[in-house]
Amino acid sequence: MDEQTERDIETFRQWVADTPPGGMVFFGGAGVSTESGIPDFRSPDGLYAQKYPHPPEQMISRSFFDAHPREFFDFYCDRMLALDAQPNQAHRKLAELERAGTLSAVVTQNIDGLHQKAGSSNVLELHGSVLRNCCMECKTAYSVDELLAQRDRAEDGVPRCPACGGIVKPDVVLYEEALDERTLQASVDAIARAALLVVAGTSLAVYPAAGLIDFFQGDHLVIVNRTPTPRDRQADLCLAANVGEVFDF
Ligand SMILES: [Zn+2]
Repeated sequence: MDEQTERDIETFRQWVADTPPGGMVFFGGAGVSTESGIPDFRSPDGLYAQKYPHPPEQMISRSFFDAHPREFFDFYCDRMLALDAQPNQAHRKLAELERAGTLSAVVTQNIDGLHQKAGSSNVLELHGSVLRNCCMECKTAYSVDELLAQRDRAEDGVPRCPACGGIVKPDVVLYEEALDERTLQASVDAIARAALLVVAGTSLAVYPAAGLIDFFQGDHLVIVNRTPTPRDRQADLCLAANVGEVFDF
């Protein structure tokens, strides 16, 4: 890390220290979880190309889920579940900042539940969570362990509700599906009230999530990302560093 980045990280930490109670909001993307060893499912590797005949965006679309549920669950369980992953330094620090009364909300594009595992309670999951699953017919809720057991029992590899036989669907937002209105509104409200907004580990390329930062009207916008984003000019500080490094204090 160069000296300028080190000085900028010090500036960021001073802003955190000076934030009024509840004034900080964190908005995170895939880069927050990759440091916990969760691969970005969009990055195709050799194995992927051999194994799956379709691009990932297609395999986790709603129309693909409806038409080919078995292939969907093969891909989903193989590529999108990382149930052994543990929270990293960024998750832990954010939970600590919430307990200290500095941080009011975590808005996340990740579906792994790692913020809650680290101890955060106000987590707005824009894309849902792999930890919640629901029967599409009778709406009974199931844990991910139950979903995996249902899949193991099924002859066709599609998890089904023991109560009614309906397909059990993960509570994650698939391509072609809308974001949950209440989660989106709560995220807008949190960002609109923030004095310090930290956007981390996202290329800010995916809408509508990327548009959320337009609601920010506070003092300091900080972007933490290894590579430049289309919104860097809007930021008061851009930190080209790992999220865990920036939150290691
Ligand atoms: Zn059911």
